[in-house]
Amino acid sequence: MIHRLCVIGVGLIGGSLALALKKYEACRRVTGCGRSIQNLDKAVELGVIDDYHTDPAVAVQGCDVVLLAVPMGSMQAVMQAIKSCLSEDAVITDAGSTKGVIIEVAREVFGELPAGLIPGHPVAGNENSGVVAATADLYQGRRVILTPHENSHKDALHKVVQMWQAVGAEVKQMDAELHDHILAATSHLPHMLAFSLVRELANSPHHDNIFRYAAGGLRDFTRIAESDPVMWRDICLSNRDAILAAMDRYRDELDRLQQAIRESDATALYDMFVEAHDARAHFRRLLDARERDCGH
Ligand code: NAD
Repeated sequence: MIHRLCVIGVGLIGGSLALALKKYEACRRVTGCGRSIQNLDKAVELGVIDDYHTDPAVAVQGCDVVLLAVPMGSMQAVMQAIKSCLSEDAVITDAGSTKGVIIEVAREVFGELPAGLIPGHPVAGNENSGVVAATADLYQGRRVILTPHENSHKDALHKVVQMWQAVGAEVKQMDAELHDHILAATSHLPHMLAFSLVRELANSPHHDNIFRYAAGGLRDFTRIAESDPVMWRDICLSNRDAILAAMDRYRDELDRLQQAIRESDATALYDMFVEAHDARAHFRRLLDARERDCGH
């Protein structure tokens, strides 16, 4: 049971956690913190938070758990603002999409990594943002990756594990660097492809007809290009090397495909598509099994 949770950044991710903890009665009180009074008033109206402050230093006072759910580029400023106002045994966690930078920034701000800091990443979400998009079931059956560091205290880790499990998530732990490499491939690269494809099509002289005659495939593939630009700018800047490496590997693959088409190499094309088809079918079976296990 969390006595008082402070959610800094009451948007899709922070708002959904607050709603879910309330739904499962795993938290007594939620204090919100953000920059937009309008968003915070809306959060109170929707029952996501009980009260709020716009100053993070005030908002964290008396809270046993603090969740940082702001864009990656705002994490350092928020840590700086709260560092001298946290309760002595407060647990600090975050929902940021990249993890190496959280540890780097925390070391810089706090001098040494706080025992109560447990970096985390809910691998859940969608292209919507703001508190109006928050839902209590966002984390149901989804994975949350925690990347504790050398100073993380086991009680703090236990509390964060319990918090996510209370809202139906499956909690995994891994090294921050490994997290950033995996997510660069599974999430960041697909977003780069969607953003760049939509831009390329939108700049085409035929863009009206392209979008008018587009079928479901383009719709599915480009859905994530509606994701928040600030959030994605910050993710790119905070996981630069891993994203660049993933883009290089993808460019090589695209080159191989282009060469096969240029050379009208039917065998190479067929083999490439069979390989991708089978890998995708295997991936879908894994996903289906996981959803069945979660009772979806
Ligand atoms: P969001 O835009 O819905 O919410 C972010 C909130 O933070 C907004 O209300 C914004 O006003 C507020 N904010 C921004 N800067 C702030 C500051 N300096 N101080 C206080 N409040 C500030 O975004 P989100 O989708 O909830 O993402 C939040 C975090 O979660 C990001 O770090 C993102 O990388 C991560 N994340 C997002 C998803 C996703 O699919 N959306 C998934 C996993 C993790």
